[in-house]
Amino acid sequence: MSFKEKRKDLVESLIKRKILTKTEVIDAMLKVPREKFLSEKAQSSAYMDTPLSIGLGQTISAPHMNAMMCEYLELKEGDKVLEIGTGSGYHAALCAELVAPENSQNPGHVFTIERHEELAERAEISLKETGYNSSVTVIHGDGTLGYSEAAPYDKILVTAASPEKVPPPLKKQLKDGGILCIPAGSKSFGQNLYIVRRDGEKFKSKKITGVRFVPLIGKFGFNSKSESL
Ligand code: SAH
Repeated sequence: MSFKEKRKDLVESLIKRKILTKTEVIDAMLKVPREKFLSEKAQSSAYMDTPLSIGLGQTISAPHMNAMMCEYLELKEGDKVLEIGTGSGYHAALCAELVAPENSQNPGHVFTIERHEELAERAEISLKETGYNSSVTVIHGDGTLGYSEAAPYDKILVTAASPEKVPPPLKKQLKDGGILCIPAGSKSFGQNLYIVRRDGEKFKSKKITGVRFVPLIGKFGFNSKSESL
């Protein structure tokens, strides 16, 4: 079976499970080649609905989690997005496909931050090879500080588990009316996925489901000494 056929099967199963509902998200999942963001060894598992190792003790989330986060963020053409935790670059590519589709008259942009330089460099190469480099900017640094240079953002996506629902710098950098999606809770278990909407100076959060992500490590995250590689 080709990667394309496996991708189609996975998307169909996510539709059946009612995880994928929006046409644009379905089309983006059908288009972005997840295998291109993985090591050769992991490529054969690219379309299993499971997290996979990307090196340095980090993981790419399971496809259903990527799909869910994209659906809840209500990503649309023209959105400016901040992602914290580039990892493989796959989720950034998915977001780019949604906010800056080919031939868009009003293309949005994705800024994505990764604390491991090696992962940031690898993600940049994968994004270039898949043609998403013009709509994604990879930044090496501590994402808990956000990226004020391009703020404010329509949507913020955090793909590592944070000790609190909204790290303070991200509060400032989310547009009024903007949406933030973040896993928060303890470092290794007892985390939940939250959707937070900004309404003026109010941040209304909704708990979606229990999840398990690698820890968000940085000034407004967990301590780096506690990272287990
Ligand atoms: N979205 C990724 C998966 C992310 S795994 C993908 O599609 O592959 C979580 C990533 O967050 C890891 O690569 C980890 O190194 C990174 N990370 C953890 N804390 C961070 C921080 N403060 N700033 C930026 N990246 C961080």
